Amino acid sequence: MEKIIVAIDGYAGTGKSTQAKSLAKHFGCVYVDTGAMYRAVTYFGQLQTTDGSIDIKLLIDSLPQISIYFEHTKNGQQTFLNGENITDLIRQSKVNNKVSDVASVPEIRSFLVDIQRKMGSSKGVVMDGRDIGTIVFPEADYKFFLIASPKIRAQRRYEEQQKAGITETLEEVLTNITARDHQDSTRTFTPLKKAKDAIEIDVSYMSIDDVFNVLIESIVKL
Ligand code: C5P
Repeated sequence: MEKIIVAIDGYAGTGKSTQAKSLAKHFGCVYVDTGAMYRAVTYFGQLQTTDGSIDIKLLIDSLPQISIYFEHTKNGQQTFLNGENITDLIRQSKVNNKVSDVASVPEIRSFLVDIQRKMGSSKGVVMDGRDIGTIVFPEADYKFFLIASPKIRAQRRYEEQQKAGITETLEEVLTNITARDHQDSTRTFTPLKKAKDAIEIDVSYMSIDDVFNVLIESIVKL
């Protein structure tokens, strides 16, 4: 089972990362959070300017200077950008509000998709994102697409953020989630969409364990 490729796509706040992490642990695979990679590039871009705005041309030219990798620690998977642990920094609203702009740039997507394909090339991998089943691994062994109502997703993300000490209001979280969904689904280059052969799961009224059991059962059955 360890050579499988599992793609989990879907909207913001559907719990993709939580499920992908658990599946990777279950199957002894590598887990790749591709959202963290788009966030890392956004964070890098914001450091390039004095006012935290993004100069897209400068960012594209600087892509070869960007190295992103993940490390597993007792505090869970950590994201590193050029040697700096940026795990918490990339969850700030400053990054939330710009990441979909950065993720709509074809050069940036191609740069990250290449890295993602390499990460999954030799070992089994569970990857979550927006284009894993459609673009990164269209030949993935298992594809899932998670959906849930925006209000429920916002509430869950809000509670997570409260625990992590991030002080956005529920309204702000809902606005950001809705804006990102719209931008991610309508961008011209490789928009967020369900792969034809992906299994769609509405997680609105399901617990984390319920969703995990459905994923495992689907994998065993397929
Ligand atoms: O998964 P997460 O919510 O952290 O992703 C942050 C943003 O990164 C998404 O809203 C989207 O704009 C972008 N993204 C993407 N393609 C992926 C993963 C994330 O465009 N595969």
